[in-house]
Amino acid sequence: MRPWVGGNCGKLCPMIRATSFAGKRVAVFGMGGSGIAAAHALIAGGAHVVCWDDGEVGRRRAVSEGFETTDLRHADWSQFSSLILAPGVPLTHPEPHWTVRHANAHGVEIIGDIEIFARERQVLCDTAPFIAITGTNGKSTTTALITHLLRHLGFSAEMGGNIGQAILTLKPPAPERVHVVEMSSYQIDLTPTLKPTVGVLLNITPDHIDRHGTLAHYAEVKERLLKHASAAAVGLDDKLTRAAAERFTDAHHLYAFTAGKGAGFVPRLYAIGQSLFVHDTDGPYATSEEVANLARIGSLRGQHNVQNALAALAALKALQDLSDKGGAALTATANDRPLLWDIRRLAEGLASFPGLPHRMEEVCRSGRILFVNDSKATNAEAAEKALTSFDGGIHWIAGGRAKDGGIASLKHEFPRVERAYLIGEAADEFAATLAGHVETVKCETLERAVQSAAEGAAASRAPEPIVLFSPACASFDQYRNFEIRGDAFRNLVMALPGMAEGTKP
Ligand code: ADP
Repeated sequence: MRPWVGGNCGKLCPMIRATSFAGKRVAVFGMGGSGIAAAHALIAGGAHVVCWDDGEVGRRRAVSEGFETTDLRHADWSQFSSLILAPGVPLTHPEPHWTVRHANAHGVEIIGDIEIFARERQVLCDTAPFIAITGTNGKSTTTALITHLLRHLGFSAEMGGNIGQAILTLKPPAPERVHVVEMSSYQIDLTPTLKPTVGVLLNITPDHIDRHGTLAHYAEVKERLLKHASAAAVGLDDKLTRAAAERFTDAHHLYAFTAGKGAGFVPRLYAIGQSLFVHDTDGPYATSEEVANLARIGSLRGQHNVQNALAALAALKALQDLSDKGGAALTATANDRPLLWDIRRLAEGLASFPGLPHRMEEVCRSGRILFVNDSKATNAEAAEKALTSFDGGIHWIAGGRAKDGGIASLKHEFPRVERAYLIGEAADEFAATLAGHVETVKCETLERAVQSAAEGAAASRAPEPIVLFSPACASFDQYRNFEIRGDAFRNLVMALPGMAEGTKP
């Protein structure tokens, strides 16, 4: 089928048609990118669509796209077959949104845009390769890495979901095309018929409890990603994912991976330091083979990226094995396709991964100094990953709007920091925590902090001083979001005197 092309998005958008809703009346609530794409896909598939949003901006956006808008408070809900809900809208906690109450009162199913994709895949090609990725941390990095590796190996890969494009703006499912889809717990909650070819569960730590009520419920939702997956790539490095691995019933299709010890499991993928190994039990003898070493790959610095890279490799190994056994359409159609599990090319692909903006992004190297943008680190846990990625010589720019507990949990990493440059609302609190451990400079603004940190790093005796912007804070006191804040850091670095001669790593 030819992708539908349309949408009022300023360019032509390839799109999946939601044919399984033809003739139905569907309510779409939440006019962000995924809501707009869902409405277009439903209309293209022959549904009658009614849109609404709590915000004026969203409603205006719907009108400008040419959609019918109705205040759903006053709509006849008995006419709707489905409510397509934006993932940010509360389904259960802290309390169900009013649209959810209406839908429940009238027995209307509540689903999200990825459910529409899942149903369309079922219609078009139910074995079309589909890798779904979730976890508390590392989802975007792993999704981008899997996509990069697939493309490097010569496969066609479409990436979307919780990263980049809304899923329904991607090309339709097909045997020769792998969909790589990042899924938040909210999106999983709205996708009842999720059946990925490979489900990837990275890690589960307490998060989003406000939206899920309890940690147990949050973990249960995350684990649902694996329930009907043909193969599961599951991390073993925390007890909740380890329990999920134990419960995955198809032992032959479990690709467990560990960046640590894997307690009680024989992992299919594991790491020794920065070296990644695959353990194969298929032949007459179990063998282990080194796939790659991340030590010199700047875009995959840090132990957390060892986990992400293992997850990506586990997903590709699972897809290759399933294809070989006929469980995924990848092998069924194209005989001349390149090999997926090609260790030399996978190692090349890891080495050429450009990384994602704002996550340990190497902005520039000027002389001995490396400038790193980690604006995505909005809490201490994320900043810890950044600090532990370097042995020392760190000129740390931190601050913004602090989370509860501030940076007290990072004390054992303070010896790596030569000097801290503090900005935003958190400056006084962070200075108090750092007192007696690290010299601090109160800079208020990012502009002054970049200037001071560059001077500090230039005077450092460390062989490779690092100017690390890893704020451990939300951006909202000074910037609308972490992306704008990271862009500001990058621009300030590139505007430093002499930076024209700096090199992009
Ligand atoms: P997500 O999409 O799940 O938010 P990202 O890939 O965008 O994750 O990474 C966000 C931040 O989370 C990174 O900057 C890093 O601090 C941290 N992180 C990334 N991967 C992991 C991991 N596997 N385990 C723990 N923390 C991680």
